Amino acid sequence: MTITPDEYRARILADIEPMAAFPQPLMECLGLACAEDVHAEVPLPGFDNSAMDGYAVRYADVAHASAAEPVRLPVVGEIGAGQANLLALPPGAAAKIMTGAPLPSGADAVVPYEWTDRGVAQVQINEQPEEGQHVRYAGEDVAVGDLVVSEGTVLGPRHLGLLACLGRARVAARPRPRVVVISTGSELREPGQTLGHDSIYDGNSYLLAAAARQAGAVAYRVGIVPDSPREFLAALDDQLVRADLVITSGGVSMGDYDVVKEALAPRGVWFGAVAMQPGKPQGWGRVGEERVPIFCLPGNPVSSFVSFENFVLPAIRRLMGITPEMRPSVTARLTHDVRSPKGRRQYLRGDYEIDADGRRATVSPVGGPGSHLIGDLASANCLLVIPEDETLMKAGSDVEVLVLDEVF
Ligand code: AMP
Ligand code: MG
Repeated sequence: MTITPDEYRARILADIEPMAAFPQPLMECLGLACAEDVHAEVPLPGFDNSAMDGYAVRYADVAHASAAEPVRLPVVGEIGAGQANLLALPPGAAAKIMTGAPLPSGADAVVPYEWTDRGVAQVQINEQPEEGQHVRYAGEDVAVGDLVVSEGTVLGPRHLGLLACLGRARVAARPRPRVVVISTGSELREPGQTLGHDSIYDGNSYLLAAAARQAGAVAYRVGIVPDSPREFLAALDDQLVRADLVITSGGVSMGDYDVVKEALAPRGVWFGAVAMQPGKPQGWGRVGEERVPIFCLPGNPVSSFVSFENFVLPAIRRLMGITPEMRPSVTARLTHDVRSPKGRRQYLRGDYEIDADGRRATVSPVGGPGSHLIGDLASANCLLVIPEDETLMKAGSDVEVLVLDEVF
């Protein structure tokens, strides 16, 4: 009994709720989903202020100034940003004013230095400004009550800057899930150790922990666990206290030492086949008292990566309250024929390119379909998605592509 990748993903997402939000300091919120509708409590700008270094004037006093008939006004004060002593400008006078400094009441234009003799006690104005010139009016950018950031927005640098300008030190945001990554396999060694003739380095815990971190999670990479159900369960139980989601790699197929399946199937985790290649054997469920979601991914590096893209990444995004959960695909023109097994959706590695004038996207397969080919995976920049019913896609046809590493 197999299910399609889409059915499997839908089943997983239906079971996962976004994590509860709480007020967090702004710098903790980069990349997190805002969990409130933020309305401005103050206007921006907060007060009428100058957009230039120059002289604040009453427009009526200088309306006819020109080079031939300049206007001379006494300078009654100087207003710097953050140091405004002059609160009102009397008629027939000017005040020196710096960019960002509050406009004194009565003033309704700023004459830039360049149009004056830069006088200290008295200033000569050689050109007539327009009414309101170089004045930034209170509330012209953001008015009190404006909806400035809506719930669900993924907070980026510009949103955080705006919230700070509005005086918010914290904002309600959904937290980063803590994702624990466990590699299983008695053949695995930690990079840096010596390898025997029968051992390999553990690449998957790095691949998956890095992918989880790139997705926005806090990733904990747990060391290697051998193919012993007892040791695996001990390691898992140890980790559950700090996990919002667990990923395991390896031990889910039909072999004699499929440790994850052997340990977790009796605990109610589902194991079965998803109609895709690579990534057919999958396990998914909840474990421990807290019912922590767990993904049991196959051990071949490309299988585990394709499984992460398809199922774990959407689950992490659901926990974070970020949509869309699944990476959106684009279409591109195939440069070479590709073959694919019937009845399974195939994910091939590819090189996605947009031509020089930016109009046409092409995609070339990178390496073969083998799920152990991590060298090819690393040199690819996309996954080609070959539909279940296709066995041969010809060069020149349009194919669906998941462009990797892009922000969405
Ligand atoms: P398994 O799913 O445990 O049967 O593993 C399938 C294949 O992937 C085997 O060739 C394993 O040696 C390999 N493999 C499993 N785990 C890892 C890992 N963490 N890093 C690299 N290769 C792995
Ligand atoms: Mg194994």
